[in-house]
Amino acid sequence: MRDYKGTCFCGAVEITASGEPAAMGYCHCESCRHWSAGPVNAFTLWKPGAVRVTKGADNVGSYAKTPNSIRKWCRTCGGHLLTEHPGMGLTDVYAAIIPTLKFEPGLHVHYQETVLHLRDGLPKQKDVPTELGGSGVTLAE
Ligand SMILES: [Zn+2]
Ligand SMILES: [Zn+2]
Repeated sequence: MRDYKGTCFCGAVEITASGEPAAMGYCHCESCRHWSAGPVNAFTLWKPGAVRVTKGADNVGSYAKTPNSIRKWCRTCGGHLLTEHPGMGLTDVYAAIIPTLKFEPGLHVHYQETVLHLRDGLPKQKDVPTELGGSGVTLAE
């Protein structure tokens, strides 16, 4: 099984994701944009057991605005690490955190909230796919 290692911005915290992600893509939701201070979030979703903090675990901060998303970051540099989604049973490791994983996005989610239209031909989910509890509706780019 392949390991993908990555660190926070300063290197104090190291993350290891093992195996292959369940899904990869872009999230356009207001929460991701607000927290990341960016127009879109590139995500890689993993089964929770596949993601471990392998260095600096006591340096990881945690914040849950809602029970659906537990957001984690490095207390030293403020760099974002991952978001746990207990309801979906998946953990989002930001694609930029694990550069050794080839990022191959398959879809866009929460596109109804977009501020940055991307015409890349990938499916644009209005919210999320039905298997993740969403409407499954797709929107025009
Ligand atoms: Zn750091
Ligand atoms: Zn989002």
